[in-house]
Amino acid sequence: MNLPTSFLATHPLAQPADLPALDKVLHRAELAAALTQHGLTLVTQQLRLLLSELRIQAIEQQLDKSAVEPSHIIAQLIEKLDALTASKLKTVINLTGTVLHTNLGRALLPDCAIAAVTQVLSQPTNLEFDLKTGKRGDRDDLIEALICELTGAEAATVVNNNAAAVLLMLNALAAPNAVASKAEVIVSRGELVEIGGAFRIPDIMSSAGSKLIEVGTTNRTHYADYERAISECTAMLMKVHCSNYAVVGFTKETALSELVKLGQQHQIPVTVDLGSGTLVDLSQWGLPHEPTVKETIQAGADLVTFSGDKLLGGPQAGFIVGRKALIDIIKKHPLKRALRVGKLTMAALESVLSLYRSPELLPERLTTLRLLTRAQTDIQQQAKGLQASLQHAVGSDYSVSCEPMLSQIGSGAMPIDSLPSFGLVVHYQGSDKISRQIMWLEHWLRTQAQPIIGRIHKNALYLDCRCLSEQQAQLLQTTWSRTQL
Ligand SMILES: *Cc1c(COP(=O)(O)O)cnc(C)c1O
Repeated sequence: MNLPTSFLATHPLAQPADLPALDKVLHRAELAAALTQHGLTLVTQQLRLLLSELRIQAIEQQLDKSAVEPSHIIAQLIEKLDALTASKLKTVINLTGTVLHTNLGRALLPDCAIAAVTQVLSQPTNLEFDLKTGKRGDRDDLIEALICELTGAEAATVVNNNAAAVLLMLNALAAPNAVASKAEVIVSRGELVEIGGAFRIPDIMSSAGSKLIEVGTTNRTHYADYERAISECTAMLMKVHCSNYAVVGFTKETALSELVKLGQQHQIPVTVDLGSGTLVDLSQWGLPHEPTVKETIQAGADLVTFSGDKLLGGPQAGFIVGRKALIDIIKKHPLKRALRVGKLTMAALESVLSLYRSPELLPERLTTLRLLTRAQTDIQQQAKGLQASLQHAVGSDYSVSCEPMLSQIGSGAMPIDSLPSFGLVVHYQGSDKISRQIMWLEHWLRTQAQPIIGRIHKNALYLDCRCLSEQQAQLLQTTWSRTQL
């Protein structure tokens, strides 16, 4: 490298020999706090790494003489240690307008569930211990009666998520070596759903070893289509709730009640993958109607599977509810053991499910429902309160307005319905490179110490305030008033 002499005079370069010995740095007083916090092993390892990086820079004549000062090295080391030990799982502020955002962790737990989880975190529990008999218990027993009470099902079991519930159900009842070697599952071509993250009905079938028998067409499937497909090998008639898309226009879906009649005639179980497990009729709060688990059981489904962290508003979990005889087979399958939930999930589930005993109080107590039913005027007021501070933060290159917008329920629930909301919209004031400026702003908000996630729409940045808590709003207000791009 040929650096001008004047530069070299003010920025003398360090030689590898100028670097301090590891021990010399380790024993400096400035490092004492870091040593107490992180321990000698980690500090030594990171310091060795840093010194070897600096040595390479010195050999390549790219290291300033001042950079080999022990105090300078220690400052760098502490920065490295802090970055290394900072949590990778961060809380973010969800301004996407999607309430149940799968990538942002779906449902937020209500306070009662947080308290329940906190309790079992540090103390032993009766997770699999029957306090009456003193013998080994079954963790499903803790919440099975409650699930049955809320859904009208005879029996229930809980696993890690709904994908696991479907996988377990197929493995136990429709795998080649399961029930009498029957492995065919009949599904309508209009219901071959793909949920994000590689959950696809045909793939999950083949991983269970079940044979998918597709019937009907994308838009129309008749009773006779199912009837004709039944054979000696039919293990199950399955309906899948089209949770993330809608088939509209010239359509025909065979009603569950009809399918149940067909199943009963041939003694074949009829199962429904409901996806979003709704336990109450949401239309009572002005939300679109989603089929509830109870309605599905009442219509005669033998088994229903659904998620714990979609509309139900609980932790990640999957339920299989329905006929006891079938649930008993499922519980005995080895996969049940592999897919079981832990005590934290159990504690949160029991607490969230208990809230459903007082349905009229749900919009107040169940966070998901509170967010979904938030009054538009309330959201508007919050957005208005933040407009000036965001305008201050982004400066005059951008203009911030407070506008009505539409939120999504998310997680595939009610894909075409949206909820009237309010938020901030940021436009770029210049005439060229608009989309680049907006993308830059989106990136800037997303990479703050407290990441803020918005969405880009029509060359503007949309920040929907539906999911913004009062505490988060205050934080944004203070941060933005102190920031300038
Ligand atoms: C969401 C969904 C699943 C997957 O549920 P997870 O809890 O995410 O595993 C499966 N089937 C349907 C119909 C769904 O909507």
